[in-house]
Amino acid sequence: MQITGTHIAYLHTCNRKLWLFANGIQMEHTSETVAEGKLIAETTYTDRARKYTELSVEGIKIDFYDAKNKVVHEVKKSDKVEHAHMAQVKYYLYVLQKNGIENPEAIIEYPKLKQTEMIEWNDDIINEAQEWEHAVAGIAGAEICPPLVKKNICKSCSYYELCYVGED
Ligand code: SF4
Repeated sequence: MQITGTHIAYLHTCNRKLWLFANGIQMEHTSETVAEGKLIAETTYTDRARKYTELSVEGIKIDFYDAKNKVVHEVKKSDKVEHAHMAQVKYYLYVLQKNGIENPEAIIEYPKLKQTEMIEWNDDIINEAQEWEHAVAGIAGAEICPPLVKKNICKSCSYYELCYVGED
């Protein structure tokens, strides 16, 4: 299985979500959510496409990469800083380093919060990323989908209807 940034983000969000995604079960995304994300990306960062390149390497796809300064720019439409975002972007740095880009960095931008989070390279990211890969493989490869664990994020999850069918 090719592990992607999405797998790593879901590992830090919900094991059930990770399993469903990794096993090819995809739900229609709420068009509003997708549209909102696109709008933020298009309106807040109109000059990005000129300054940065898109980069695909192994399983990851980085929309805005500053090749000159070795900086990943990730835009999140969320209205809160989440550990899953950090993990996903750290995983990008791990893959970049593994592919010969020394000491990459990342900036996660939260337009709604008008806030940025900086992630600098450190060698601990290698161990963390390898542990996450191991955990993803274990969960994704399980024969049975992990049970529903009700969380605050469920209501905005694309699997909500699937998970909550029959729930009160
Ligand atoms: S609805 Fe909740 S339990 Fe189901 S996959 Fe999404 S986050 Fe996980």
